[in-house]
Amino acid sequence: MEGWRLQRGEYTKKYLSEDEIWTKFNYIFSTKSINRTSYKFCFIKSLLENIFNVDEEGYLSYDHIYEKFSEIYWYLTIRYKLKQGDTGINNAENKTSVEIIFESFLQKYPALSSQMSFEAIDEKIKIQIVEEVKKKCKRNVIGAIYGDTDGTFYTFDLTREILKLHPDVLKFFKKYKYILLKLNHYEWIKFLERVNKEEDAYSLAEKLDYATKRSNLAVYRNLLYEEFSRHNCFYCGRKLVSTMEVDHFIPWVFVRDDKLWNFVLSCRQCNNSKSDRLSDRHYIDKLLEQNNYIITHSDNIYIVKKEYKVYHPDKIIEMYNCAEFNGFETGWRPRCLNV
Ligand SMILES: [Zn+2]
Repeated sequence: MEGWRLQRGEYTKKYLSEDEIWTKFNYIFSTKSINRTSYKFCFIKSLLENIFNVDEEGYLSYDHIYEKFSEIYWYLTIRYKLKQGDTGINNAENKTSVEIIFESFLQKYPALSSQMSFEAIDEKIKIQIVEEVKKKCKRNVIGAIYGDTDGTFYTFDLTREILKLHPDVLKFFKKYKYILLKLNHYEWIKFLERVNKEEDAYSLAEKLDYATKRSNLAVYRNLLYEEFSRHNCFYCGRKLVSTMEVDHFIPWVFVRDDKLWNFVLSCRQCNNSKSDRLSDRHYIDKLLEQNNYIITHSDNIYIVKKEYKVYHPDKIIEMYNCAEFNGFETGWRPRCLNV
């Protein structure tokens, strides 16, 4: 099916078994599905890293998808100069449209630099970048994957900018998120090795793994400490001092997204000792209480409204269960409380 020509598509089957979904996935990564760019890999990564931002009916906005898409591409192409197109592209340097968009923004705004992380870009410019990337990519990528999967994975509409995942695919993505991310990275690495010079194609797994890792979580730390008076370590209860840390309650390596509803403040000792583990289950209730407090005391703070747009208490429980299924160790408690 030549999906990239389509304006919209409905999913073609009411029920899908896991076997059927695996078969479609294998097709996406097979040589039969042609890649002149790495868009497909970036799109799948964007879907997977957004999987807990899907609303109750399975809808995911194009803005969510393409903000992630732009963030990943910025990191790989601008920061690490990794080419994302092969010789099939019709320009001398085999540049993808997204690389060309980024370069034009770098030329237009002197305040932007190639050393800048995506999160550090001024919000207004960032919105313009995402808008351009969305305009360029939405046609080819969303339709192409729709075609590759015989219209089974989602319903989409280019004009209304909506994508609704098939309920069985949504369940599958959540259940196998970690392994699917790794599989996608592996295929993407093979592509990158093929189109980049050997001296540029080093540490590719690490670069893909950390493409959306934020280094600065100060905005969340300040909100939790100042605005919502979290003055004690979430885990051990000790009074927080200047070395406090922002901890992803469900580990970042699994979620790969930063939302206020998954953040707690902790002392450095707890944060280091917890690392990529899941805390003991009883802390879930404590997090739900914190989130409830924030929602009822936020006084319309813009960022809180934005962060909690698709929040639901059940999501935390679901994420915890999915992370456990994906192999993350559970039951961590602060050492001083174990005695
Ligand atoms: Zn602590």
